[in-house]
Amino acid sequence: FNVQCTPLMDSQKQRMGGLLVISDVTQLRRLENMRRDFAASVSHEIKTPLTAIKGFVETLCTGALDDREETRRFLTIIDKHVNRLATIIEDLMQLSRIERDDEIQQIGLERCRIADVLDTAIGLCADGIAEKGIHVQLSCAASLSGCFDATLLEQAAVNLLDNAVKYSPEKSTIRIEALTVGDEIRIQFKDEGMGIAKKHLPRLFERFYRVDKARSRKLGGTGLGLAIVKHIAQAHGGSITVESELEKGSTFCLHLPAERI
Ligand code: ADP
Repeated sequence: FNVQCTPLMDSQKQRMGGLLVISDVTQLRRLENMRRDFAASVSHEIKTPLTAIKGFVETLCTGALDDREETRRFLTIIDKHVNRLATIIEDLMQLSRIERDDEIQQIGLERCRIADVLDTAIGLCADGIAEKGIHVQLSCAASLSGCFDATLLEQAAVNLLDNAVKYSPEKSTIRIEALTVGDEIRIQFKDEGMGIAKKHLPRLFERFYRVDKARSRKLGGTGLGLAIVKHIAQAHGGSITVESELEKGSTFCLHLPAERI
């Protein structure tokens, strides 16, 4: 709490009382902490590949350049870290674009068919799906449609499907189901993967939050995918929820308003 006390005077400058203002600054402090944590996370995530790049460049400069094989090997590693930096920066830019467009209510709403959005997303994840021999089952009425920003919705579906593929075993099944429930459209992504322990669920949609950092990095993750999904859902006036059981699998569900007035 923030406490402010101001004396109140009458016209003869005699003290007649006081004004006590007590304001609840919990939310403000929470926002300040979140901003500080976010800046620290960004610095950390960017510093890791940068340190590696610097190390390899220095080694090349101090002699390794003379060895062609060694040079090729180091350059390949540098290239990998540069790509990682580019992915992190691209994800961060996307996140801030969605936040800004949401604030000025500038997402491009248009009538689109959910089946088309999901087909596109499945196509964009086709390589990963084929690589692991995963079976994707899609259940969505051809007539199901709504007013959404199709590109953003595709992005949310790609992020959820990509995660389902990344964190599922080979030859497993991913079920995608879209349906109307009351006044909302629900799009569910259900996998038979490793699942997520209960204690992680409340923080899962925070930027850079990962259950297993090393595993996520190895799979090319930035820890920003679900934060992007959450913002896309919110920009549409919707939300995202998750249910999960360790070793059994996870179900992520997008809840979107069925019709806008
Ligand atoms: P990442 O780039 O690490 O995948 P996300 O924001 O997309 O970042 O996801 C955050 C974390 O949530 C992941 O690191 C992973 O630990 C967990 N996660 C997300 N989706 C799934 C899933 N379908 N099954 C198991 N764990 C998941």
